[in-house]
Amino acid sequence: MSDRELRVSKIRNGTVIDHVTGGQALNVLSILGIDGSEGLGVSVVLNVPSDRLGLKDVVKVEDRELSQSEVDVISLIAPEATINIIREFDVVEKNRVDRPETVIGLLSCPNRNCITNANEPVETKFDVVDEGVRCTYCGTIIREELATHIDPE
Ligand SMILES: [Zn+2]
Repeated sequence: MSDRELRVSKIRNGTVIDHVTGGQALNVLSILGIDGSEGLGVSVVLNVPSDRLGLKDVVKVEDRELSQSEVDVISLIAPEATINIIREFDVVEKNRVDRPETVIGLLSCPNRNCITNANEPVETKFDVVDEGVRCTYCGTIIREELATHIDPE
């Protein structure tokens, strides 16, 4: 299937996340907090050949647009992703993701002793580094398993 064919299998309103790094689509869904119980129409295409990425995944979510912080976290696991906003079957916006320098208030720190886990009114803050993200407070680095540290809010 080509990029073009994928793009034309239409949804009416929602978001198409294209050029997701092959194998990361399910992590994208967990970043978005989607597990199927919301009743949203979700299509996931895994490991489609892509000129740019070798293999790519595509995630389509009906009736849902993404927040900037969700897009920021997606950029960490799928740096080449494009976010297409669909309204009335048209792509009204198409954005490449941008790796942020910091991710605030969205991820939880895996270090139990970190001040952000100590019932203090401290918002989590992670610096984006080559290996993943690093907690500003305690230095713990989260690498592959980012999606499992999303703060459920
Ligand atoms: Zn920490």
